[in-house]
Formats: sequence, structure tokens, C-alpha cells
Amino acid sequence: MSVLIGKNSVVSVNYKLTDDAGKVLDSSDGSKPMVYLHGAGNIIPGLEKALAGKAEGDSLKVRIEAAEAYGELIADGIKTIEKAAFEGVEAVEAGMVFEAKAPDGATQEIVVVKVDGDAVTIDTNHPLAGVALNFDIKVVSVREATKEELEHGHSHAGDGHSH
Ligand code: ZN
Repeated sequence: MSVLIGKNSVVSVNYKLTDDAGKVLDSSDGSKPMVYLHGAGNIIPGLEKALAGKAEGDSLKVRIEAAEAYGELIADGIKTIEKAAFEGVEAVEAGMVFEAKAPDGATQEIVVVKVDGDAVTIDTNHPLAGVALNFDIKVVSVREATKEELEHGHSHAGDGHSH
């Protein structure tokens, strides 16, 4: 009997992610499969929903609307601030990416869109905000999470995670 993907499953998938124009945005090709803890918010909500109930060996193609992926593009996310806010940065230029702490404590990427004298226009939207995502997925394996993984809220099978 195969284990179905549900809360507290550790799931390993190979995937290809494209936008509606068919451009490949991300893929597990040539690298290790993506491993995540199901039900812990490790991946975007739409993908978690699509994978629920699937089993090892299953393949699926799913289109996820922006709202269920990285969110809609928020107009308020694009704003103009004073150059003085970039303390310690010698030359602020369009295209630069900064990391800032959002009010909720999460790390937020800020892209400089335009610099006009002392006025700097920034975009705090996720690069994939407003983009519908098309996933082509193959489920590589499904297993129950260990007690430690559940305590940590993530899988310990992926690389770059050592404790
Ligand atoms: Zn951990």
C-alpha cells in the first residue's frame, strides 16, 4: 500500500515550473528533488493543495493562480522613498536588490526600480507576484515525518540543512 500525501508527510518531488508563456522559471532538472514537509506551509498553498492525496510515482500538471502562489501584485508595494533611507550604501542604482525586515519580522526583498535625484522608487513585491504558475510534477517519494521534523516544521532530508 502506498502512502498518500497528507498532513505530516515528507514529500520528495521533481518539478518543472513555467509561466503561461512557457518560459521555464525553475526546475529540479540536474539537481536533487525538492523535499518538503506537507501541511507546514513550506511551499506555496496552491501546490500543497494539488499534491494532497497523491502517491509515490504520480505525475500531475497543475496551473496555480497568483493568489494561491506568490500573491497578487500589490500596487502599494511600489513606492518612492528618500535616498537617505539607504544608510551606508554609496551609490543606489536601479536593479539593486536589498533585504529588509517586513513589519511581521519576515525577510523581504526590495528591488530598486528607479533613482531620480533623492527619490528612490522601490518594489517590495515578490518577483513572482501576479504570475500564474504551471507546475509539471512527478512525486518521487512519500513518507511519514519524524518527530524531530514535526517539531522543527520542516524536512531534514534536503541539502544545506544540518542540525
Ligand atoms: Zn530542523
